[in-house]
Amino acid sequence: MRRLRVEVRGAVQGVGFRPFVYRLATELGLAGWVLNDVRGVEVEVEGTAAALDAFRARLEAEAPARAVVRSVSVSWHEPAGFRSFEIRKSTGGGEKSVSVLPDLATCDDCLAELNDPADRRYRYPFLNCTNCGPRFTIVRALPYDRPGTTMGGFALCADCRREYEEPRDRRFHAQPTACPACGPRLALWDNAGQPLARDDEALRRAAEALLAGRIVAVKGLGGFHLCCDGRNEAAVARLRAGKVRREKPLALMVRDVAAARALCEVSVAAEQWLLSPEAPILLLPRLDPASAAVLVAPNVAPESTRLGVMLPSTPLHHLLLAAVDAPVVATSGNLSDEPIATDELEAVARLGSIVDLFLVHDRPVERHTDDSVGWLFGEELQLLRRARGFAPLPVPVAAKQPTILAVGAHLKNVVGLGLGSEVVLSQHIGDLETPEALGAFERVIADLLRLWEAGPVAIAHDLHPDYLSTRWARRAAAGDESEGPLPPAILAAVRAGRLRLVGVQHHHAHLASCLAGNGAQGPALGVTWDGTGYGTDGTIWGGEFLLGDAAAFTRVAHLRPFRLPGGDAAVKEPRRSALALLLELFGESALSRDDLAPVASFTGTERALLARMVATGARSPVTTSAGRLFDAVAALVGLHPKAGFEGQAAMALEALADPSERGVYPFPLVPASSPGTPALLDWGPLLLALLEDGARGVGASTRSARFHNSLVDGIGAVARLAGSRRVALSGGCFQNRFLVERTQERLTAEGFEVLTHRLVPPNDGGLALGQVTVAAARIATDGV
Ligand SMILES: [Zn+2]
Ligand SMILES: [Zn+2]
Ligand SMILES: [Zn+2]
Repeated sequence: MRRLRVEVRGAVQGVGFRPFVYRLATELGLAGWVLNDVRGVEVEVEGTAAALDAFRARLEAEAPARAVVRSVSVSWHEPAGFRSFEIRKSTGGGEKSVSVLPDLATCDDCLAELNDPADRRYRYPFLNCTNCGPRFTIVRALPYDRPGTTMGGFALCADCRREYEEPRDRRFHAQPTACPACGPRLALWDNAGQPLARDDEALRRAAEALLAGRIVAVKGLGGFHLCCDGRNEAAVARLRAGKVRREKPLALMVRDVAAARALCEVSVAAEQWLLSPEAPILLLPRLDPASAAVLVAPNVAPESTRLGVMLPSTPLHHLLLAAVDAPVVATSGNLSDEPIATDELEAVARLGSIVDLFLVHDRPVERHTDDSVGWLFGEELQLLRRARGFAPLPVPVAAKQPTILAVGAHLKNVVGLGLGSEVVLSQHIGDLETPEALGAFERVIADLLRLWEAGPVAIAHDLHPDYLSTRWARRAAAGDESEGPLPPAILAAVRAGRLRLVGVQHHHAHLASCLAGNGAQGPALGVTWDGTGYGTDGTIWGGEFLLGDAAAFTRVAHLRPFRLPGGDAAVKEPRRSALALLLELFGESALSRDDLAPVASFTGTERALLARMVATGARSPVTTSAGRLFDAVAALVGLHPKAGFEGQAAMALEALADPSERGVYPFPLVPASSPGTPALLDWGPLLLALLEDGARGVGASTRSARFHNSLVDGIGAVARLAGSRRVALSGGCFQNRFLVERTQERLTAEGFEVLTHRLVPPNDGGLALGQVTVAAARIATDGV
C-alpha cells in the first residue's frame, strides 16, 4: 500500500476533471480525495502499486476532452489510511496559476435535451453542463466555483442540486448549471426597457419581430448582439444607420451547417470549426448569388467575396435561430467604435434609439466578450479577432519571464499579461477612440491583474506617444491617478519602486508576436507591413523588414518613404496617399494629371493645399507605410477615393486581383547608401509601370494582380539579402490572402521557412503578445 500525490496544472477547472478523477479512482478501487485549488487540481490516492500505476497512466491519457493539462507532478508518501474517495471543497490562497477557461458552445448532449419534449430542460435557453456553457464571462473570482460566478445568486433547486452533487452526472459541479425552476429567465423588453413578455413567449415574439424586419438586441454570453433578418435590405440599412457602420461587412448567424452551405463554400475544416466549442465567426467564400439557395441582402457585406458566418453558440441562440430559420445579422451590440454593451439597463440607454426590442435575461455578464473572427488557410484557422472561445487561454512561451503587463496598440486593442512561461491575452477590446473604449481598456487591465492576482514588474507599451494606451502606461508608471483610479497591483508596484516602463517599437512587437505565436525564438526576418506604427526615428513606419528576435532587431530594409498630407486623415482617403506618391514621383506636375482618378477627384484648391503641405512638411509625416501604398494603388486603379473604414480600399484591390495573372512590375531593391542603414524597396518604377499599363488600357484586375506579384518579388529580394532562412509575416497587410499565399509559395520554393500568424491575429490585436516577450527579453539582457 502506498499513497500517491498528484498536482495537475493547466486549464483543468470547469471541464469535469474532478468527476473524471473520482470515476477513475473508484473504478480502480483507490481511496483518497481530489480538490480544486488556485493552481489547478490536487489529488491524493492510496492503494496497491498496480492500481496506482494504472491511475497514473490513465490520468493523462483519459483526461476530459476540454482539459488542457500543462504539467503533472507526482510524489510518493506513506499511506494515510483513507477509507473512501471523496471530492473535497475548493481551497483558496497561494499563487494563482490555474487557467480560466473560455466560454464553450452548447454541446451535443445539451442540444439533445434542449429539443427533447420529455426532458425537464426542454426549450430552456440557459441549459449547460460540464462540457459546455459560460466560463470566462461569468467568473468573478478564482478558484472556479459557483459562488465565485455570476450564477452565485441563483440557488440550485433540488433536482439540479442532485445532479450537481452526483459525481457520475454530466452536471457534477457544473457551476453555471440551471433549469427552468431555478435558473435565469428570458424576457422581452421594448426599447424603453418596459417588459413585454417572458420565457418562451419572449423568444417567440423576438423571432416574429426579426421576421417582420425589426431590430432586436439579444443578450448573449459576453454582451449584446444587434440582430435583424439578413435577407431584409431595409432592416440591414436601418441597423447600419443606427450603429453608424456604413460599409464594413456584418456577420451572420445561421441555424446549422446546412444553412451555412446555402450561402458559402464550407470545407471540412471549416465545418469542424463552425461546430467547435469555440464556434468563431468564419469568413467563408460566398457562393455566387446566382447559385446561392438563400439570398442575403446586398448591404450585409457589400463588395466582399466572403461572408462572416457563425452558428449559434448558446441554447438561446439555437432556439432563436430555429424559430427564425433564416440568416440573422448578429453584430456586436455597440455604436461604431464603442465596446459591446453587456448590461441590459446600459444597453437600453446606449442602444434604445436604434433597437426595436431587447431580448434579455437576468444572468449578469461579468466581462464583455465579442465573437471571435477567423478564416481558414487550408486546414488551419487564422484568427483576425481573438475573443469568445479563445480568450483568456494563455499562449505558452519558451522563456520564463517576470510578470509583465502589455497595454497593446491603439486600434484593435488587446492587453496581455506575461506570467511565468505563458502570456494571457485579454479578449478583444477595440479601437481606443472613445471614452467608453478607454474605460473598457482600464476595466480589462484591472480585471486581469485582479483575477490572476498579478503584481507586474513592468508595463510594456507602444512607442507612439499619442496612443491612449501609451499615455495610460506612462500615467500608471508614475502612479498618477489624476485622470482616474489605477489598479491596486499597479499602485503597489509603483510604491515599491519596482515598476519599469518598457517602450516597444510597433513592428518589433509584430515580429516578436509572430515568433511567440509559433513557439519560435528567432532570429527571423520579420516582414512587418501595416498601416501605421511609430518608428524609432520618429517617422511613421509601416513597410518594414526587421531582422532579429524578441531581444533586438536591425531594420534591414523598408519601403521608399514619402510624405503623407494630413497623416491619419489619409486613412479614410486613399486618394491622399495616391496624390502623395505622385507628388513624390513627379513633383508639382502631378497636380495636373486629370487623367488619374485620385487627382481628378480633388479641386484645384485642394490640390494646391495638399502639395503645399507635402512641400513644407506641415501635418505631413514621413512614412514608409505599406498600407498606404495599397490605398494609393487602389485609388489609382479607380477604387474608393474615399474609404468607409481602414483597409477597405486594400480589400477591394485584393478582391479585384486576377489570380491567373503572373506579370510583375519592376520593384527594385536599392542597397543601403552607407553601412548600417537600411536598403530601400523603391515603389517608383512599380508605380510608373502601373500608370503606363493604365494608359494602355490594361484592366484593373490585371494591374492589381501585377501589383501584388511585384510585392512578392520585393519581399523575396529582401529575404535573399537579409540572409535569414526564417521569415515571419506580420502586420495588418498580411490579412491579404493573395499576398500571403503568393509570398508563402515563393519563399517556400526558395527554401525559406515561413512563419505566419494562427491563433494570435496578424493585426494589432496580436501586438500585446510581442510587447510582453520583447519586454521580457530586454529585462533579461540589460535590465532596462
Ligand atoms: Zn453541455
Ligand atoms: Zn434547477
Ligand atoms: Zn500594426
